[in-house]
Amino acid sequence: MIPEVARAEGALLHLADGRILIDGISSWWVTTHGHCHPRIAAAIAEQAGRLDQLIFSGYTHAPAETVARGLIDLAPRAENRDPLAHVFFSDSGSTAVEVALKMALGTWHNRALDGLGPPRSRVLVLEHSYHGDTIGAMSIGERGVYNRAWAPLLFDVGTIPFPVAGKEQATLDGLEAACAAPETPACFIVEPLILGAGGMLVYPPAVLRDMAAICARHDVLFIADEVMTGWGRTGTLFACEQAGIVPDIMAVAKGITGGAIPLAATLANGRIFDAHKSQHRSRLFYHSSSYTANPIACAAAVANLAIWREEDVRGRIATLAEGIAQRMSELARHPAFAHPRQCGTIAAIDLITPDAGYLSDLAPRLRAFFQERGLLLRPLGNTIYLMPPYCLTAEQLDGIFAALIAAGDRFGVQA
Ligand SMILES: *Cc1c(COP(=O)(O)O)cnc(C)c1O
Repeated sequence: MIPEVARAEGALLHLADGRILIDGISSWWVTTHGHCHPRIAAAIAEQAGRLDQLIFSGYTHAPAETVARGLIDLAPRAENRDPLAHVFFSDSGSTAVEVALKMALGTWHNRALDGLGPPRSRVLVLEHSYHGDTIGAMSIGERGVYNRAWAPLLFDVGTIPFPVAGKEQATLDGLEAACAAPETPACFIVEPLILGAGGMLVYPPAVLRDMAAICARHDVLFIADEVMTGWGRTGTLFACEQAGIVPDIMAVAKGITGGAIPLAATLANGRIFDAHKSQHRSRLFYHSSSYTANPIACAAAVANLAIWREEDVRGRIATLAEGIAQRMSELARHPAFAHPRQCGTIAAIDLITPDAGYLSDLAPRLRAFFQERGLLLRPLGNTIYLMPPYCLTAEQLDGIFAALIAAGDRFGVQA
């Protein structure tokens, strides 16, 4: 039986049959402050009665302007780096990524029209990446069972090895070589600091910084996919801050509305914008979508930005990250677990299981096991991860870790 959820509040889901679950993965990584945050819910209700939808071509509205200005203010910045000063709205992480790719290739296409070098179309990606499920986003993600049926439609990319601990130099060398290849790439897209759907794989800020520096040296556009990492997940508002880098293009979605309603944005620097600014129709950036910058979604984002400005969100994140770290170090001593890792409020650990056949149906069994213990978790294979909303209490965290230990006892190879 698929559980029916009747309502949600904070970190809790209330099921129609009366049971209560802790939402340990923020309803697929989107709910940041907690479900049904009163300020966000009120902003949505108010906007729904004022201006529900508007063509966002040749017209604008206050919520979109406020969100755009807020994003520009909050975006990663650094001395001597072209700031992310332009915002393009869309409605999902996948579209924000597609828009980022179109901006990158469009920039080189338009420069070629001006005689500034050949157009470029090659895209570099990091091994094990996930960037969404539309055709373009699947093309730049890890190939596997999730996209095999559509392989004939996916375009070719250059894959840089994931920076495994101790072997980071291989990543940097691979990127250097790919950037220096005869066919200069248009761009390199990365999930900064942690690869989500690829298995919650972490790598240090220094590697992110070095990858960005290599791209800058070769004039390859650097795209940060902050769809999962943004809005505080990694401990800072955006993961790029920890490396002190400013990408040329940045995609944000998921937590942009606090996770209440779909909205996404792709931020770009002046160079990308200028390459598309023209009197000639052939140069414009063509991407339109019916609900671009929907006013209700933008109003939710305005409320989210106000919460970030006015409430101690960073303090809550620090407390949660600290609470997770303490309990993770204990869990890591359990013989059934290996490879504990954490990036801000995201933590993951691998369950050591007896055999591969067992592994194949482990995830659904774990899901059911956790559900019986009042917990919504959705392991990736044998990787169990947490990505809770920031309002999670210490008591709820204790409950989650008690369930993790029970899972190790029950399913672990040593049990
Ligand atoms: C979830 C995710 C996406 C896709 O976002 P959707 O809103 O589900 O389309 C893209 N990139 C990353 C890193 C993600 O985690």
